[in-house]
Amino acid sequence: MKKIVIASNNAGKLREIDAILAPLDFEVFPQSAFNIPEAEEPYCTFIENCLTKARHASAHSGLPALADDSGICVDALNGAPGVYSARFAGEPKSDERNNQKLIESLQGHANRKAHYYCVIVLVRWPEDPQPIIAEGAMYGEIIDTPRGAGGFGYDPYFLIPELGQTGAEIPMAQKNKISHRGKALAELVEKLKSVRGEG
Ligand code: IMP
Repeated sequence: MKKIVIASNNAGKLREIDAILAPLDFEVFPQSAFNIPEAEEPYCTFIENCLTKARHASAHSGLPALADDSGICVDALNGAPGVYSARFAGEPKSDERNNQKLIESLQGHANRKAHYYCVIVLVRWPEDPQPIIAEGAMYGEIIDTPRGAGGFGYDPYFLIPELGQTGAEIPMAQKNKISHRGKALAELVEKLKSVRGEG
């Protein structure tokens, strides 16, 4: 089995990634197993921050490393909150204040289009010249009144027009299939299979 470190300590993410990579013969380790400190994420693009996290985890562990980065991008706000999604309303991190700031920022804007975006990067070594990069997006629009009790983050305000439901109203299993993360993970699997000659 090939060992791989995941640049995250989020238990839910680790379980999801483990379930996807174990059938491909990867043994997955959280970065906490190597006492890896959190990486800085100084860039304004998801891909730059994601590559930085993956390189950092690979350099500290001596293993191939996988990182992900995600957030919500709102058209009328030139893509904000983007890489700042988790802390849009500042510290401490609060979904409630983030959503409040988002709704206030959109007052008077007719264009409500937004999308969630996720990028996943796998580097074999810190200086890997050819990282595997997988991406996914889920499109929707921001509504002023929250709906639903599931999901997290911006989900109660994120309406998926084809379903007529918000991210907080659809069941988690369904969300995982159509979400930005679900799509990025599916693309990652396809790319890993083709690297191994199975694609
Ligand atoms: P991270 O990549 O897990 O750090 O996510 C960054 C931030 O983007 C989260 O804290 C949320 O605010 C937002 N976000 C990412 N994916 C979702 C989602 O599926 N639903 C709601 N919010 C999300």
